[in-house]
Amino acid sequence: MNHPVIGRFAPSPSGYLHMGNLLSMLLAWLDCRALGGELLFRMEDLDPARSKPEYIAALAGDLRWLGLDWDRGWPDPDYAQSRRTALYEEAFRQLEAMDLVYPCWCSRAERLAAASAPHPGEAEADGGCRCAHLSRAEREALLRSGRKPAWKLRCPDETIRVTDGHYGLYAQNLAREAGDCIIRRADGVFAYQLAVSVDDMQMGVTRVVRGRDLLSSAPRQRWLIETLGGTAPDYCHGPLISSGEGKLSKRLGSLSTRQLRQETKPDALVGRLAHLCGLIETEEPLTPRELLSVFSWDKVTRADIPL
Ligand code: GLU
Repeated sequence: MNHPVIGRFAPSPSGYLHMGNLLSMLLAWLDCRALGGELLFRMEDLDPARSKPEYIAALAGDLRWLGLDWDRGWPDPDYAQSRRTALYEEAFRQLEAMDLVYPCWCSRAERLAAASAPHPGEAEADGGCRCAHLSRAEREALLRSGRKPAWKLRCPDETIRVTDGHYGLYAQNLAREAGDCIIRRADGVFAYQLAVSVDDMQMGVTRVVRGRDLLSSAPRQRWLIETLGGTAPDYCHGPLISSGEGKLSKRLGSLSTRQLRQETKPDALVGRLAHLCGLIETEEPLTPRELLSVFSWDKVTRADIPL
């Protein structure tokens, strides 16, 4: 029996969407609709400091404006990460019981970044720190000192393979190439890698379509899900849009949905994104539904797209 396909949109409300995010959302929508799947919309408002009400309010409207619909999810609170803490807590305890979690007292900045997905230029792993090797007595003394630690996941010295639907085989030795990652910050906020894995597992997601910058997170997520007793989804990453050098391209690359919605019509933008990623040869306005009839991952470029 074929399992039903479940895809997802999982944006973070830490800013307005821009062209790169919109392309990822469009590809996630096309992929799921082409497979006759069910599409979820999860609000990744994990980090209370970065998630702003105005961005949360804008997200759904911006997706609808572009013509992208979903079957369940936001605004149902069960699909907001900020409301799912008990599930992350449970997974954290499970990992702790397997001796896969240890406290870390290293630099604060790194812990703060951990609640967001690691996009280019945002360091995530630290290549190993002394906290992983503290003796029990040292660890207990530090815990007693009252300085709150972040919590890290002890990643195995094991190569995990992911067959990406678009980029092919991607293998990564978790301990050596990714490094132990923070799964809970010192302020108690759970980190991206844990939350996204628990959510994809609990929501029964079978297809993760997102930007290629997160391909390097896929082996960790696959391993985490399997370690927690779940089945990992198929991963399929799409190309990134990069801002080129010229003034015009810098401007286009950084335009948010706020500005795009004033300057262009949704069908024109869909046509532009479709042309940029290789789905259509000549740029012309069209709806996501119309694009569906010509959608195929074979046509989608693997290279970064300079604007
Ligand atoms: N919320 C993450 C972001 O906006 C994406 C998470 C994911 O797709 O795994 O970057």
